[in-house]
Amino acid sequence: MILIGRARRYILNHITPLPAATVPAGETLGLVLAEDVRADGDVPPFRNSAMDGYAVRSADTRGASRARPALLRLAEVVPAGKTPSRTVRPGTAAKIMTGAVLPRGADAVLIVERAAERGRTVLCFAEARRGENVRRAGEDIPRGGLVLRRGAVVRPQEMGMIAAAGRTAVRAVPRPRVAILATGSELVRPGRAPGPGRIRNCNNLSLAGLVRTCGADPVDLGIVPDDPALVRRALLAARGFDMLLLSGGVSVGEYDVVRRVLSRVGTAARVWQVRVKPGKPLAFGLLGRMPVFGLPGNPVSVMVSFELFVRPALLAMAGRRPRAAPVVGAALDGRIENDSGRVFLVRARVTRAGGRLAARPVRGQGSGILMSMVRANGLIVVPARARRVRRGAAVRVMLFDPVDGLPSARGGRPA
Ligand code: AMP
Ligand code: MG
Repeated sequence: MILIGRARRYILNHITPLPAATVPAGETLGLVLAEDVRADGDVPPFRNSAMDGYAVRSADTRGASRARPALLRLAEVVPAGKTPSRTVRPGTAAKIMTGAVLPRGADAVLIVERAAERGRTVLCFAEARRGENVRRAGEDIPRGGLVLRRGAVVRPQEMGMIAAAGRTAVRAVPRPRVAILATGSELVRPGRAPGPGRIRNCNNLSLAGLVRTCGADPVDLGIVPDDPALVRRALLAARGFDMLLLSGGVSVGEYDVVRRVLSRVGTAARVWQVRVKPGKPLAFGLLGRMPVFGLPGNPVSVMVSFELFVRPALLAMAGRRPRAAPVVGAALDGRIENDSGRVFLVRARVTRAGGRLAARPVRGQGSGILMSMVRANGLIVVPARARRVRRGAAVRVMLFDPVDGLPSARGGRPA
């Protein structure tokens, strides 16, 4: 049996980030930038008002108060998007809206709440200090300024900044396209009634969801029966994707053909018994440059193996740090026995109880019981050597969903 960490290292050694591509700005959420982005001009491009009010010469408002307002003549009105036609001369003011160009001569904006109009006269009830409510040209970013660094992960604010910098597309590591193929002669499409001896294929959809939580694009290739020739043909047909995920057929059963086919058509192929429960059988190899995972068929095992091995690989492929789901500490609310001699990943419900986290194992820990995953939001990591974990003991939990604001692998999931 191989340790989780060793299998993961072997896999990551065979993953390279995808080559950068030009990506439309609107599709960059979650991607890693492959270039430095600089502003093509000042942001904001011109000196403008931060508030609705009156553009004035600050000296004209000196000493003004409610009791003794300064009186200025209204020279013009400047809405946003218009160029002022006059200079604000001593003794005059221009009514101005937020974002409008500050007229020449003015050096401050008195907010509308501190002024009043009587005919063509503006009453200023307070002083406007020099520079007050004035946004300088380039105060956010000067022309040519570095706004985003190569290697940054694009969040919504970075998308806005790409637009502010004058760009409609950027160089970024594109979203991996991940093909998903279920193997098993017993499987039928979810839309069909199973019939005798058959079951519905649920793994492809669980995997598609997981792939999306990594910011990658899933492509469902359907089902292939346990026939070496057909599996081989399906494998070869999947070339051209960035990654291929197979489920089923990697155990040691007589009809487990994925292992054999992958070893024959792939390179660097490995078939492991990983020291973990669930998720023991695992195959990995390369088809040309495409990484291929042979994941276990059981609906829980396939998801667990994804979290342990595929998520880090997909992140690495997208140019990100190859992290598995985050691990938090919690108090065990229940008891666990582990006689497997493997790391036992116990599906659990993690809740916050008065500033502390409690993890309660959910009902039904069999690797075929998908409802246990539906009930759970994390996996308690029980070390291989721990045979018994007592109630109240400190445990570590891999979170796959957010708990009351705690982060999880899918918490900040990109589009
Ligand atoms: P295998 O790894 O092929 O031996 O499959 C282990 C168990 O998982 C068997 O009970 C299969 O019927 C079941 N299984 C395999 N693939 C799927 C799938 N795509 N959807 C649901 N169950 C599956
Ligand atoms: Mg099978």
